Amino acid sequence: MLSSPLLALAGVGGAFSPASAAADSIECRARELHFRSLVIDTHVDIAQRCFFEQFDMGRRDAEGSVDIPRLREGGVGAVFCAAWVPAKLSGASAVKRALDLLDAVREQVRLHPGDLALARTAEEIRRAHRDGKIAVVLCVEGGHAIDNDLAVLRSFAVLGARYMTLTHFADTDWAGSSGGLVGAGGSKGLSEFGREVVREMNRLGMVVDVSHVSDRTFADVLETSAAPVMASHSCCRAICPAMRNLTDDMIRALAARGGLLQITFHVGFLSAEYHAAMCAVMAEFESRSRIRNEEFGDNEARMLRQDELLRAEMVREGKLPPVNWEKIVEHVDHATQLVGAEHVGLGSDFDGAFMPEGMEDASMLPRITEALLRRGYADEDIRKIVGENVLRVLADAERVAQETAAGASS
Ligand SMILES: [Zn+2]
Repeated sequence: MLSSPLLALAGVGGAFSPASAAADSIECRARELHFRSLVIDTHVDIAQRCFFEQFDMGRRDAEGSVDIPRLREGGVGAVFCAAWVPAKLSGASAVKRALDLLDAVREQVRLHPGDLALARTAEEIRRAHRDGKIAVVLCVEGGHAIDNDLAVLRSFAVLGARYMTLTHFADTDWAGSSGGLVGAGGSKGLSEFGREVVREMNRLGMVVDVSHVSDRTFADVLETSAAPVMASHSCCRAICPAMRNLTDDMIRALAARGGLLQITFHVGFLSAEYHAAMCAVMAEFESRSRIRNEEFGDNEARMLRQDELLRAEMVREGKLPPVNWEKIVEHVDHATQLVGAEHVGLGSDFDGAFMPEGMEDASMLPRITEALLRRGYADEDIRKIVGENVLRVLADAERVAQETAAGASS
């Protein structure tokens, strides 16, 4: 966009207006702040596109939300790429899917060495950023992907996975899930083996991700984990009552132990109105989705984009309400008012969920910085929210791992 304050001062487009000049100076200041910050998105589902469709991240695509050009336009410094394993897979096929997805992302890093760099630690993320590259951090979504075997967990860590989401839409043998997109959520917590998984993740320096877990599992994780934990992509239940979101008490408990709530952009977790409408039409949505997706086999990337078209259709039919991107800022603000800017961040779920209007892809992220600035947030707090907090939590996880190793050898 042209530098409108200068145009206004030069008298272009009408008389000089101090109010519009001030407004436009916020826009300029926001861009400057955003592009000098290390912006981190802790949950992106690009792995499916890379694996199922051989999508090349170097190409700017008209579909989906994430590729290198759009990450660059959005000023993104690091992106956590999730190896999401659907709950319908189990045993060896779940392990295999996680390995395939991790490999698909690693291959993209290999093919684009000038733009992408694999990062395992906070320092490696900073180094990639200094080198002008986008740091790619691997992670696993769905604890069933370890097939009840700590050896598999350790192998994921060796491959570079820096967090694991303990469940997806269904309980695992050792951890309870908050359930699907709608619904009441389960009451199961962590089993003794589940606690072992958490302790092993602590020892490996992997962050424990509590998005998708039941409230009981959340409490059990906080009780068990020696390191701060993260909800990599969840919202505030006080604003939208989906069980995938955290209550104010949960957010306070997470923050009290140094943890982090990464606000997600999925419309069904942002908007109470959308969530209620989706609960009412879920059966219809699922049956229409099933018919359309029959031909796609297990291509999760394709199915998601078909479902996105179906959602748009149901919005046009008046069965689902549209949701605006500014809802994201409402959730960020609610959590920040509650526990401070040190415990809040962004985990979009791009390419894995339905995005609100105005935040369809990664190039639009600077809008969030601008919106926070307009709400009066200090530059330093915005820098924490858009990325620095994640580096702190990663560094804490690394410190706990080192202390555990030192304790074991002394
Ligand atoms: Zn998820």
